[in-house]
Amino acid sequence: MDFDVIVIGSGFGGAITGCRLAQKNKKVLILERGKEWTKDTYPRNIEDEWIWSNTSPEKYHGWTDLRTFKGMAVITGAGVGGGSLIYANVSAIPPKSVFQAGHPKLPTTRCNLTTPPSGMFSTCKRFRQSSAAHASN
Ligand SMILES: Cc1cc2nc3c(=O)[nH]c(=O)nc-3n(C[C@H](O)[C@H](O)[C@H](O)COP(=O)(O)OP(=O)(O)OC[C@H]3O[C@@H](n4cnc5c(N)ncnc54)[C@H](O)[C@@H]3O)c2cc1C
Repeated sequence: MDFDVIVIGSGFGGAITGCRLAQKNKKVLILERGKEWTKDTYPRNIEDEWIWSNTSPEKYHGWTDLRTFKGMAVITGAGVGGGSLIYANVSAIPPKSVFQAGHPKLPTTRCNLTTPPSGMFSTCKRFRQSSAAHASN
């Protein structure tokens, strides 16, 4: 089989790269080391398979690739979707000082992010409020 592009890894970077190239009619192959999880197979209980091991993937094929080093531990996703499998969503509103610092140069202002109705953080706040209301029902 011939491909124009071979992408290694199906995380945020690989999936979007593959998608955009395919949309431009390139023949794309995406190679992923981990397996595909569905909402039915996704690990939820402590005894489910969570851990991925690069050295023995036949034994450990969960999505959590956890590597420990001296003074540092790194966790990444291993499976179709990469890190999106564990995307936890952080939507903290940056303080004014972040925008006043001048570095890095930001493409927007704090006001644009926080002002309803289109500001990203006001949208996040609406989502949080509606999820909280949903959870309490
Ligand atoms: C617990 C957790 C929570 C996070 N929460 C957030 C968040 O809330 N907000 C946010 O912005 N970011 C978050 N991140 C960070 C985000 O997930 C990463 O920045 C993002 O996934 C990086 O994308 P990537 O494409 O570079 O790599 P990844 O998404 O890690 O994708 C790499 C892919 O390559 C595959 N791969 C690796 N080696 C090989 C190989 N040799 N052959 C085949 N496939 C291979 C892996 O299995 C994986 O699927 C979180 C990360 C973690 C771990």
